[in-house]
Amino acid sequence: MREFAEPFRHGWRQAVEVRATLVDFQSPFQRIQVLDTVPFGRMLVLDDAAQTAEAEEYVYHEMLVHVPLLAHPDPRRVLIIGGGDGGALRRVLAHPVTLARQVEIDGDVVRLSRELLPSISAGAYDDPRADAVIGDGVAHLRDTAERYDVLLIDSTDPVGPAVELFGDAFYRDARRALGGTGLLVTQSGSPLVMLDELKAARALLARHFPIVRTYVCSIPAYPGVLWSFTAASEAIDPARIDLAAARSRLRALGAPTGYYTPAVHAAAFALPNFLRAALEMDDDGDPAPLPPPVPGQPPR
Ligand code: SAM
Repeated sequence: MREFAEPFRHGWRQAVEVRATLVDFQSPFQRIQVLDTVPFGRMLVLDDAAQTAEAEEYVYHEMLVHVPLLAHPDPRRVLIIGGGDGGALRRVLAHPVTLARQVEIDGDVVRLSRELLPSISAGAYDDPRADAVIGDGVAHLRDTAERYDVLLIDSTDPVGPAVELFGDAFYRDARRALGGTGLLVTQSGSPLVMLDELKAARALLARHFPIVRTYVCSIPAYPGVLWSFTAASEAIDPARIDLAAARSRLRALGAPTGYYTPAVHAAAFALPNFLRAALEMDDDGDPAPLPPPVPGQPPR
């Protein structure tokens, strides 16, 4: 049986066994593969990087969507940049939003995901509140006069068409589109094997937003498994949620979750000491951190 593995990062990579390749297609933007894997079922792979998989996509999508939408007092208008697999769109539509707009640059990702990974979007594209736009998210945010309550950057890592989605001008435009009261969440990579990307995104966001908060979760199909999201806002601190209020709002959605709970939400912002040290976060009375681990080296 063949295997799929992402490129090594800091000498580390993981691999999955592949039963079958359902599609291997070069779009104008990237190589698109859908693989039938042994551990995670069908998996979307873009330019040799795992994006989402049937058996574990709920972790990423619930933490990307429910954290900001339950931190925001009343999210009505949501913009998703990227997200062509439709998993984020589906979770946004579980909330009482009036608009869920998705701007995905690659129409082939949407087409092949709806065809070969239907359980991920699960009919979200047919919801009358959904507006699926094919286009560059950078240009969309630069040119829009519309305002949004929540902006979700569900993009590939900062390579190729996604580079500017982690850029200064894009975050400036995001601040304008959120109108001082909304919040943004971006996928910000692995704290273990993509620490520089995470630090760079936090530093750039801090130029435009007074509140910048990183939270983590475990995504089985991703390099290093430990994955981060970073939230930014002028007004809302997603790390400070009212657990009881979030519980009753989540219950009212009637959308079962596989990973997200309000307690997991709150805990996700309690970062381990090595990461606090690596992100130079101020000391809030916890024991002094051990020196940050060096990938490939045993902890000191
Ligand atoms: N969960 C995945 C991750 O964290 O790696 C992201 C999944 S989603 C499929 C990523 C999408 O971002 C891709 O379909 C890609 O085409 C899209 N994308 C990349 N750059 C973009 C841009 N500038 N504007 C809009 N979509 C973009």
